Parts: sequence; C-alpha cells; structure tokens
Amino acid sequence: MAQIRIENVRKDFGSFTAVQSSSFTIEDGEFFMLLGPSGCGKTTTLRMMAGLELPTKGEIYIDGEEVGMKPASQRDIAFVFQMFALYPHMNVRKNISYPLKSQGMPGAAVKQKVGEIAEILGITDILDRPVGGLSGGDRQRVALGRAIVRDPKAFFMDEPLGALDAEFREHMSEELRALHDRMNATTVYVTHDQLEAMQMGDKIVVMNHGVVEQFGVPQNIYDWPATKFVAQFIGSPPMNFLDFHGMAGAGATSVSFGGNTFDIPRLIDGESGDLTFGVRPEHIRLDDGASYRGEVVAVEYLGTTQIITLNTANGPVKVRAASSQLARVGEKTGLAFDPRTVTIFNADTGRALK
Ligand code: ATP
Repeated sequence: MAQIRIENVRKDFGSFTAVQSSSFTIEDGEFFMLLGPSGCGKTTTLRMMAGLELPTKGEIYIDGEEVGMKPASQRDIAFVFQMFALYPHMNVRKNISYPLKSQGMPGAAVKQKVGEIAEILGITDILDRPVGGLSGGDRQRVALGRAIVRDPKAFFMDEPLGALDAEFREHMSEELRALHDRMNATTVYVTHDQLEAMQMGDKIVVMNHGVVEQFGVPQNIYDWPATKFVAQFIGSPPMNFLDFHGMAGAGATSVSFGGNTFDIPRLIDGESGDLTFGVRPEHIRLDDGASYRGEVVAVEYLGTTQIITLNTANGPVKVRAASSQLARVGEKTGLAFDPRTVTIFNADTGRALK
C-alpha cells in the first residue's frame, strides 16, 4: 500500500504543455479517479506517476520517496492497461503466475499465491482452462489476477473498462470496487466517464486542458463545484447557469434573485460584477407562486423523474421533477430555488465565489 503525492508536476511535449503545474495527494488505500474529457492530460498524469513518462518539472513521491526520475520497474506498482491483454497460448493459472515466475519465486509459493488470488476473484474452478474460450467477464478477472498477484504498492488503471458494453461495464466496475475494498490497495484510475468516477471513487481529480480544476470527494465536487467547467462536466443534465450582468457592483455584499438574497462574501478588485448563478436541475421546484418566471418548452419523461426545460429571462433552465408533477409545453410558471444549493461563479473567470 502506498501514499502517492505529486507536487507542481508539469509535462511538456515539445512546445505543447499536456499537464500544467499539478499538485494533489492520494492517500494510502484510496480508490482515486483521474477524470476529464479526452486530451485533458489524465493519461499523461497517470503515466508520470507510474514511471512511464518523465515529468518536465515537479516531484512525484511514493511513500515519501521522490521517484519522479525512477523507471516503472523500480516503483513497485502494477499498470493495468486493457484488461483483455492476456497471453493467449497459456491457461489461466499460467497467465496469473507469470509475473511471479519471472520474479523467480519458488514453485510452491507461486501455487499458493495463485490459489489465494483465484479465491478472491472467484475463478478457482477455471484455473486449468485455456484463456481462449473464456467469457468476457472471466477474461477480465484473469487479467486483474495477473495484475494483483505481485502485491504491488499501487495499481494504475487507464480506462480498463473502456471497451465493454454498458451493462457489462457496470457489472465489472462493481466487481473492481469490491475487489479494492477487500484488498485496500491504493488504486489510481483514469476515466472520462463522470458517472463511473462518482460511483467508484473515494476521491476525484477533475482535469481540463492540462489543469487540475478540482480535487476532492465525489459529493463535494458535485455539490460545490470550484469552476463552471466542473459544474458542467459532472451531473446529467449538467448544472444550470443563469447569467446576470453587473449585479455585484463595487462594494456590493449581496444580490437578490428569484425572491432570495444571496451573500457575496468575496469579490476580487477589478471584476466586472458579472455573475453566473449555478443551480442543479434537482434543486429547482416549479411553484406557481414563485416570482422568478419561466415558460415550459420541453418535457422529457425518464420514468421516475422527468426533465422539464423552461425559458427564462436568463436563458433556458432544466428542472428535474417527479414524473407526477404536471407540466405542459406552453405553460408559464414560477421557479423556486433553495439559496443554500446555489453556487455563484465569477462569470469572467468561471471560478466559484467562496
Ligand atoms: P484520452 O482520454 O483521449 O487519452 P487524456 O486526458 O488521457 O485523453 P493525454 O493522453 O494525457 O490525455 O494527452 C494530453 C495531451 O497531450 C493530448 O493533447 C495529447 O495529444 C498530448 N500528448 C500525449 N502524449 C503525447 C506525446 N507522446 N507526444 C505529443 N503529445 C502528446
């Protein structure tokens, strides 16, 4: 098990900066997600932690030891690429024992260790089968077995479930998480899927354009996004943004909106005063008595809930409501917000005001 810390780590490829100065700590035993859209630098960050890429600047610590310039082979970690990458000519037992044999472990110890791992993964009865005829799920388990059999300090996984269809993917992500909870090994996992990150992760780093936008537990990231990017990337449908121009003039400490008064604790000098109010679809209630008004333009039925889109003076707003709520296209109604659930952003920088 291991604590992994990166400090001011940066990666340039020629004149292109793939990862800007990034810092965060992964605690011992955590299931840690690197989340962001394609090209944001999450794979590069993972590869630097694993020793497959050298940082241009900054330090990487594993259990307090600076390893930034050490190759992967000296970091005692396991990298799981695509879980389907098995040795096709070997049976299950040989696939799993291969890393131990190549380390020179004696035969009896190998047998015992492979037996333990097979037990954990529930594949004891297929140990002597060729991998060729296995189901997708069993192939994934064997590949995982091969990665974990060495007892590495940490696991690094880059979109390991990326090639699977949705249903199987969900099943394997539950298995992976359960496996982690039994073994408690530090795991760093790259994904572009916000739902997967929220469901599996103890902590999440959200990256965009090589920058760490936010780092924390899933619930905090969802409830208190640090930037508009995070607010939009996490949650489906994403957070609503309502733009207000010049509301926070010099010296203003509060603004009123939708019948509520919102405090603005800190505005930085020189800001235009343009604000964006962010509110999640499930935190808005349709209430005919509310003063903030909108017109229903679309209703999307989702089973237990529905997404109702309204046009307001500040643009379209999506509301998640119970399916029992009556809403007809063309109807005008009020929108009520709980001020405690609203995040106020600086419209220029996109950063949440604290
Ligand atoms: P994806 O999910 O698409 O893999 P990512 O977030 O993992 O995206 P990276 O693979 O880390 O992103 O890539 C970040 C940026 O760095 C991309 O623009 C990519 O093209 C660039 N990049 C990555 N590796 C190299 C390299 N070896 N040489 C030049 N540019 C690279």
